[in-house]
Amino acid sequence: MEMDMLFNSGILTGERPGAVKPPQELWETKQNGLVIIECPQRIPCNPCHTSCPTGAVLPFEDINDTPRIDYSKCTGCTMCVAKCPGLACFVVDLTYGGADEALMKLPYEMLPVPEVGAEVDCLNRSGEAVSKGKVVRVMEPWKDKTLVVHVSVPKALVMDIRAIRVVK
Ligand code: SF4
Ligand code: SF4
Repeated sequence: MEMDMLFNSGILTGERPGAVKPPQELWETKQNGLVIIECPQRIPCNPCHTSCPTGAVLPFEDINDTPRIDYSKCTGCTMCVAKCPGLACFVVDLTYGGADEALMKLPYEMLPVPEVGAEVDCLNRSGEAVSKGKVVRVMEPWKDKTLVVHVSVPKALVMDIRAIRVVK
């Protein structure tokens, strides 16, 4: 049913196979954050596994498998975020910014590149702006021009926000 929704609309909603939230207790205490991978389709692809330096994305038994994560090994490094061709990986750091703020580390392929300190629109899976965020850092994990943008966002929206848009 969820898969039908994905194929029909291109929009992921709610809990779904292949999109697993980190264990809450670990997530709330893990500095630097934990990965979330929203990749429910069986496709022949595995850079999330091959790029992960810690083995947190488990080996694929079949190249078409959807990713499985050992959260105890994730360091929030974002190497997978920058390698995933589907922009399906991102990191959420709930230890950043106290009770109301969190840090999201999102893949970013658009121009212009956001500037550190800039206010950006935070978009949900439908591309609708749901809040403002502030760019904290712009990283290039593999030095290959693929960027990962760190944005402070309202903590309550980390399961809604999936992209940013530069405000002109
Ligand atoms: S954020 Fe780093 S440690 Fe975590 S799954 Fe991705 S590559 Fe592995
Ligand atoms: S690299 Fe991205 S698209 Fe490919 S299997 Fe991993 S999460 Fe899915």
